[in-house]
Order: sequence, then structure tokens, then C-alpha cells
Amino acid sequence: MRRLSEKILQIPASATIEITDKARRMKAEGKDVISLSIGEPDFDTPAHITEACIEALKCGKTHYEASQGLFELREAISDKLKRENSITADPSEIVVACGAKNNISEAMEACLNPGDEVLILDPSWVSYEPAVLMAGGKPIHNSLNQKDFQADDTILEKVSKNTKMLVFNTPSNPTGAVLNRDSVTLLKDICEDNDIIALSDEIYEKLIYDKEHISIASMGDMHERTITINGFSKAYAMTGWRLGYAHAPLEITKAMTKVQQHTISHPASFAMWGGVAALKGDQTCVENMRQEFDRRRRYLTGALSDMGYKTAPADGAFYAFVKVDGDDMEICNEWLEKALVAATPGTAFNASGWIRISYAAGMDTLKEAVRRIDKIK
Ligand code: PMP
Ligand code: GLU
Repeated sequence: MRRLSEKILQIPASATIEITDKARRMKAEGKDVISLSIGEPDFDTPAHITEACIEALKCGKTHYEASQGLFELREAISDKLKRENSITADPSEIVVACGAKNNISEAMEACLNPGDEVLILDPSWVSYEPAVLMAGGKPIHNSLNQKDFQADDTILEKVSKNTKMLVFNTPSNPTGAVLNRDSVTLLKDICEDNDIIALSDEIYEKLIYDKEHISIASMGDMHERTITINGFSKAYAMTGWRLGYAHAPLEITKAMTKVQQHTISHPASFAMWGGVAALKGDQTCVENMRQEFDRRRRYLTGALSDMGYKTAPADGAFYAFVKVDGDDMEICNEWLEKALVAATPGTAFNASGWIRISYAAGMDTLKEAVRRIDKIK
């Protein structure tokens, strides 16, 4: 008898995490590796957030909480969604989980039946397809238009009577593109006309440069059929806190809460108090980080262009998505082995011929990475 589940055997390891682990191992062996393969802000979590968490620990907030997430945090999320995203969200329609990644799996577990198809818009983040497979669904891919990474009606060719959910991410990991109003309207029409649930991953919402962020749940009847995913990792440099949230119609959040009750129970109580401080506190820290990312973005895209590389529109998140001539896996390997620069091949995002470089690293580090890539070119 096979020891492992067929479901898990069909899933690859997370490329973003594997490559970064390899870079970490190389560093431990004494190699001077520059790791630009993971999407993680290099800033410390702002002090007022950390202090709120320490205070919570000191005050004995170390017990079980509501399984859906601390009520005070869900209230703060509800205010935020109304104020910033024009989404009316009762706290009962919000689930706080251990990172947006956890919320995404819970949403899939809550909604999918065997044979249900989930349409994923590529290039797509590495964990969407595994989350669908783990929940027993069937991933179907459609590429965004590779000129500007916007949606077009080729998506309709992939819609079938079994399509249950449409997954997309704006601003996008890995491309950095931001879906414009026409694209989001098209996705809304597709979902409404075909009775599809939208899973809109908006975790990079705060990292956007001169473009507008549109939440699909604020349009038409989408409130009744959208799972909006967001979290604290990227906006507040809180990756290690493992804190994310989802807003969805009550029927779905109730089902997600059931999944949560039987798996994680809820995120760490004191971490959730940090989340309250993040949302209720001064937002200058978010803007300061955004401006610094913008400075790096302009440097990196400029330097890549000077080297003759074409990049996707880097309008959001903290990634430059670079078009390469040849096999992206081989080129990434060469960058790592010869230039000691770790980046992620586009193949991991269902986009061969591209490489993702994270610019969530200091300016000096980026300059050195560019120098090394240029040298082996
Ligand atoms: N969605 C996207 C597009 C991401 O890049 C990430 C980064 N890990 C996540 C979701 C999950 O973030 P987290 O679990 O750290 O909240
Ligand atoms: N989302 C980040 C990335 O794409 C973090 C790693 C992960 O969770 O995939 O690099």
C-alpha cells in the first residue's frame, strides 16, 4: 500500500520557499548569496504593533479566543473594508486565519466538491493550484494577456458548467501588474453571468504605485459571491506573525470557520492584538515602506532595462517580472550558481520564459545583484 496520499503526491513543493531555502543553505555554507527569491518585506514590523502584542502577552491574552478570530480584530477589519474598499462586511462575515495562505485553503475547503473546476488566471502565485488540489477541486488555467497582464474574454473559453470559482490576484504576484477597471468589470461580468464565486487575493493592495486598486466585492452583486483575501504580511511587514483574513458571504465564512475549528482553532491570540494595533494605528509606516519600495522599483526596472531586459508593468507589489531568452529554470540556476543571486523562475507561476525578482531588499543589495547578473550575461 502507498504510504502517502495521492492528493499530496501530485502537488509540487512551493518553488518560492524551496529556492529561498536553497539560498539559505548556500549562505550557511559560507557562500555570499543574494536572495531575491522570496516575497517578504525586509523591514521590521512597526514598533507600535510589536508593542501591542507584547502588552497583550503581559496582560494574559494567552488563552483561546473566538475561533473565527478575535472580535475586536474582526471589527477593525470590518471598518477597514468599509472605509478603504467600499465593502460592507459584518464581523460575522470575516474569518481571521494564520496568514492569507491559510484563508485561501480554508476557502477552497469550504466551497469545493470533487469535479468542481477552479479557473486560475496566470501567471499565478505558486500556492493557488495546490490549494485547489488539496481541497479536491480541478484547477483550470487561463493566461492573462501577456502584453500588459490584463484580463480579456479568452477567459470565457475556459468557463464550463463545472466552473465554481475564479481566482485572481491584484496587484499581482508575480507580475506586479494591477488589474484595471475594465479587467475587473470583465471578471465581475463573467462571475455574475455564470454563477461563479470570485476569490480575489488583494494582499498587495497597499503596495501600489500610481494606479488604483479595485475590490471586485464592491461592484454590482459581487458582494454575494466574492471571497476577498487580505492580510498583514505585506502591508505591515508581518510575514512571521502568520495573520490574514477573508471576507465572504455568511454561508461561506461559517463553513470556513468549521474548517478552522477542526484545524488551527484560530491564530495566536496575542498576534491578533498586534493586528488590531496595525489597523487602528497610524498608517504612516505603511506609506513609508511603500515609498521605499517605489524607489527600489524605479531603480531595478531602470537597471534591468539598461541591461536590455523587458519587464512586465511593475505597478504594484514588490516584484520585477523579467522576460528572458531561453529556459527560465536554467537561467535562474545559472544566476544562482554563477552570480550567487537567487530569483524565481516564471515556470513556478505557470509563465515560462520569465523570471521574478523581488525588490524587497535594500538598495545596496539590489545594486550588487544587478552588477552580478550583468557580469555573467
Ligand atoms: N497571496 C499572495 C499573492 C502572496 O504572495 C502571499 C505571500 N505569501 C500570500 C497570499 C500569503 O501571505 P500570508 O500567508 O503570509 O498572509
Ligand atoms: N508570497 C511570497 C512569495 O511569493 C512568500 C512565499 C510564499 O508563501 O510563497 O515569495
